Amino acid sequence: MRIAVIGSGYVGLVAAACLAELGHKVVCADHDQGKVTALNSGRIPIYEEFLAELLQRHRGWGLTFSSSPADAVKQAVVVFIAVGTPMSATGEADVSQVEAVSREIAGSIHGRKLIVAKSTVPMSTCEWIERSLILNGCDRADFEIVSNPEFLREGSAVTDFLYPDRIVAGVSSEWAAQIMRQVYQPLLDGSYALQAGVVPKPESAVDKPLYLETSLASAELIKHACNAFLAMKISFINAVANVCEAVGADIGEVCQGVGSDRRIGSRFLRAGIGYGGSCFPKDVAAFRAAAREFGYKFELLDEVHRINQQQRVRFLRKVRMALWSLRGKRLGVLGLAFKDGTDDVRESPALQIVQALIEEGGEITVFDPAAMANARNVLGDSVRYVTDAYAAADGADALLILTEWKEFAALDLARIKALLRYPIVLDGRNLYEPAEMAKAGLDYHSMGRASQPAAHPLPRQARMAG
Ligand code: NAD
Repeated sequence: MRIAVIGSGYVGLVAAACLAELGHKVVCADHDQGKVTALNSGRIPIYEEFLAELLQRHRGWGLTFSSSPADAVKQAVVVFIAVGTPMSATGEADVSQVEAVSREIAGSIHGRKLIVAKSTVPMSTCEWIERSLILNGCDRADFEIVSNPEFLREGSAVTDFLYPDRIVAGVSSEWAAQIMRQVYQPLLDGSYALQAGVVPKPESAVDKPLYLETSLASAELIKHACNAFLAMKISFINAVANVCEAVGADIGEVCQGVGSDRRIGSRFLRAGIGYGGSCFPKDVAAFRAAAREFGYKFELLDEVHRINQQQRVRFLRKVRMALWSLRGKRLGVLGLAFKDGTDDVRESPALQIVQALIEEGGEITVFDPAAMANARNVLGDSVRYVTDAYAAADGADALLILTEWKEFAALDLARIKALLRYPIVLDGRNLYEPAEMAKAGLDYHSMGRASQPAAHPLPRQARMAG
């Protein structure tokens, strides 16, 4: 099938590469000429496991790149719109990129094309795309709109796309439904996973995804409801963690007890410094705003957002409680990405905490396995960049863990202790057991658990600071 994907960001590029992997002929178009040039010469602008392999396999044959969405659309039967829908200043989804694409491609739609909204959009956006295409000269008989929200997670985007739990297609005709089934056929019948040399199936993946055909409105709503629910789960467990601290309970034990109830499940029940990234914060705000637009005040989502913001403030308070004044204090920071497995720092709680620490006069040394270049675009020269976790700890008054990278959960603790000026670790992601840190002689502060005094006495100054 000939497919155009408009937008080559985290979703567009992954979708384009994966659709080529499924055997389709894909043109991925982006109006950012720099990105297109980079992609055409084999450079990949984002970090995502398996993406390099897929691009190497399909670039120039099943997958080409173009800076002209209009040209890409001319060659395609199915057109995926995967441009950004960032948060506007007032909290609504800014759908101007989607509108711009609709305007831009309207003139290229001849013959019957299926326009697929893959971007996360508020309810009724598909109706607006249709209206915009017609207003910009497109014949109503020449196209149909489908809503096909994307559920991939950065860090495991390729395997999420190729081995999804479910595929949702909001359709309004059998013609559209049939084309969508054809697009995803190798995933729906499980045949993709059986081919030689394909991206390996994760152990946790289902054999065949649920394929859910819905109305356009339901498909749009499913995506927002899904992200809002996951954000709510995170804020809920963070609120419980705060109660744990107040009563001396342990959030790890509580999560085990709560998460083992199969009606609840243990995923997304990890206390920490809160959610971030390009999706949850904006999608919670956009869902709240869209619901309001349709006459429903979704106040639960206000609270989800408030608890999330509060987690960063609580963590900063912990840093102050451990070190007293932060002016002139040297802090080693592990993690800048909004989560592990990605270089994305958009709305990253880690980055926001670093910025707050700088404002309080801290001298910050940072390390992240993938997000250093993106972080540098935001932090500039305000921090010192180093190339591994131990260099970040070297001479620091405390070590802060802000992203849950696996390698940060397996540090040589004796070496960390020897490198730190004061043996203080503040862990915003609960990567260690308090008892293990105490045994290593580290003064350990985490989320939703009692602070564990080090087994070996701290230097006098550090004890005063705590
Ligand atoms: P992104 O900002 O990384 O990428 C968007 C791309 O679209 C950019 O490369 C930009 O240059 C391009 N673009 C913008 N306007 C264009 C135009 N008129 N013509 C051609 N190209 C244009 O965004 P993203 O993270 O890929 O997200 C895209 C959509 O998918 C958003 O709605 C997002 O909410 C949704 N989504 C994102 C994720 C995620 O994990 N990032 C997951 C699921 C859904």
